[in-house]
Amino acid sequence: MGMVDADTVVVATGNAHKVVEIEAILSRVMPGVRFVALGELGDFPDPVEDGADFYENALIKARAAQQQTGCAMAVADDSGLCVDALGGAPGIYSARWAGEHGNDAANNQKLLRELVDVTDADRGAHFHSSVVLVRGQEVLRGDGDCPGTIGHEPRGNNGFGYDPLFWPADTPGQTMAELSADEKNRISHRFHAHHDRAARLK
Ligand code: IMP
Repeated sequence: MGMVDADTVVVATGNAHKVVEIEAILSRVMPGVRFVALGELGDFPDPVEDGADFYENALIKARAAQQQTGCAMAVADDSGLCVDALGGAPGIYSARWAGEHGNDAANNQKLLRELVDVTDADRGAHFHSSVVLVRGQEVLRGDGDCPGTIGHEPRGNNGFGYDPLFWPADTPGQTMAELSADEKNRISHRFHAHHDRAARLK
């Protein structure tokens, strides 16, 4: 395990896309703070995400990273897509909705199948992110949404997960996967959640 300063924050996610997004957001939200991805400190098993909601799962990941690395500070997020016509599904099951964890193509195919008879007016959805920063025993939480609609076919090659099917309300004419990393990081649920959390860290 590498050496980590007391003021370094461990970014607790095994998702390589999320590490990049979170570090880009945090470098603006927490300037001057050093971040290290959990995977750079060792090969740790993923904790069981059996929380009842996004917040509980984020806390599970942040606490696990603290214990695994011995670092005092860790930040984790749990996020997902909530589709109105599906009663908020897939929600906390977004990563493994089609069965296999993190199979984005299968998840997107399932989403299109589930909405095949749903007209444009009823294709509303939002991404949600809950973030947790743990500092010793202290828990600081933030929550953010990104509202939009679900398209009829994938468009764009950037981002990850459900991005090619998601049309953010903030970027008319472009799916999330057509935005640059900077554009996504200005409107995303993750951006809003980290800002919400940072506003409470004073
Ligand atoms: P987590 O890593 O357990 O929080 O699961 C997140 C899952 O939600 C991902 O695997 C994606 O399916 C979905 N998701 C979360 N954030 C995004 C995003 O920014 N774009 C697209 N899909 C996302």
